Amino acid sequence: MYKHDIIIIGGGPSGLSTALHLARDFPQLTPRILILEKARYPRPKLCAGGLVIDAEIILQQLGLDVSEVPHVDAERIHFDFEARGLNIRVPKRHVLRVIRRDEFDNWLARKTESRGIEIREGITVKNIIADGDCVIVETDQGNFRAQVVVGADGSNGITRRCLLPKAEVHTARVLEVITPTDPHRQSVPPPPNPTNWLVNKHPEFSSSYLGAARRGHAYFDFFPVQANIAGYVWDFPTQVNGEAMRCWGIYDTNILASEKRPQLKELLAKEMSRFGFDLNLYEIKGHPIRWFSPTNEMSVPRVLLVGDAAGADPFLGEGISIALGYGRLAAREIGEAFQRNEFSFNGYRRRVLGSALGQALIARWIVAHIVYLFKWKWFQILIWRILKPFVVLLAWIFILNWGKRM
Ligand SMILES: Cc1cc2nc3c(=O)[nH]c(=O)nc-3n(C[C@H](O)[C@H](O)[C@H](O)COP(=O)(O)OP(=O)(O)OC[C@H]3O[C@@H](n4cnc5c(N)ncnc54)[C@H](O)[C@@H]3O)c2cc1C
Repeated sequence: MYKHDIIIIGGGPSGLSTALHLARDFPQLTPRILILEKARYPRPKLCAGGLVIDAEIILQQLGLDVSEVPHVDAERIHFDFEARGLNIRVPKRHVLRVIRRDEFDNWLARKTESRGIEIREGITVKNIIADGDCVIVETDQGNFRAQVVVGADGSNGITRRCLLPKAEVHTARVLEVITPTDPHRQSVPPPPNPTNWLVNKHPEFSSSYLGAARRGHAYFDFFPVQANIAGYVWDFPTQVNGEAMRCWGIYDTNILASEKRPQLKELLAKEMSRFGFDLNLYEIKGHPIRWFSPTNEMSVPRVLLVGDAAGADPFLGEGISIALGYGRLAAREIGEAFQRNEFSFNGYRRRVLGSALGQALIARWIVAHIVYLFKWKWFQILIWRILKPFVVLLAWIFILNWGKRM
């Protein structure tokens, strides 16, 4: 049996952020942290890769410069209903930075290691048993014993399933497709070559149809709400292996799951066909997102959940900045627990809810229920087209910008 003080299960943004914050704020704990990651970096992760300003703020505060990762910047985000609505721009900067998760997570993992934190890749956690004195983590490569475990293992994570098997789970369904910017060029470039990612930072867009018309813009269209899909279709600029591409997808919180609904794919195909893309020609992938509800359980004695395991944004399914934010809160909780030598973590959920991140998550949970339950056309037009300035102001105050207040 291997012995460690802090085992973090999962090396995505939430697990890596927990480790980075522990190392920064409680450096004496650094050699006592072990991250167990089942995959090997750079590993695929289905995600549109949109980083909002809060993600960049948290990374900056950790002394990390995310512009080192290949990215495409969107200067405007459009929130539309049936192709018309409001758009958001931040003066003198991008409003959304789009990365690919294999590259971003690999970069973050290497930064984490460079700060003295051990990551063991290719180890899958199979079971977790928490008793009063320690936590046993059973893996496909032997058992580990820890004082504290962090469940950073995503929406389907084993930590929550083992330790909170009866907890209610709110899960969104999400489909994603990557296409070229031009519908007439149907191929997708080969998978990224990890050795050339530093040189391919700013891919130039071709003057293709989509490249020219929507270059540098990210779109969310809430038209599916009328069809009882409690979510939206997105279209982001992105890059794969340095080549300009588009990332399309559809998100459904499942809030309207009791109603009759079309297949998700149908609505995504409809949106893509407006721009000449035939969805059937591309590989379509799906993954659930566990979303935040104020009642979500987030800890048991000696074990904390972070990131998707605790709950991502229910409104848009945005989870990277949220995962980074949970990491900061969990690190504080763990550091103070070691100082007090008391590991019940029974105030963790309360402190998450009371934090700037928690307030933003509660606001998004309320907004999701308003926007998706009041699904009538006139209401959607009212929000996205008529009340524009009011909606932008509320979003800026309550939904974004929590990173600075953490
Ligand atoms: C289609 C799609 C599009 C999205 N688009 C965006 C977007 O544009 N912007 C945004 O902010 N968010 C987006 N999200 C959400 C975002 O991807 C997640 O919120 C984010 O990845 C959560 O990070 P995490 O660290 O909690 O979990 P993850 O990123 O899922 O990381 C969990 C890690 O745990 C590891 N793991 C799992 N089980 C085990 C085990 N048993 N043993 C060891 N290791 C294990 C996994 O390999 C993985 O590395 C999207 C999600 C989906 C599905």
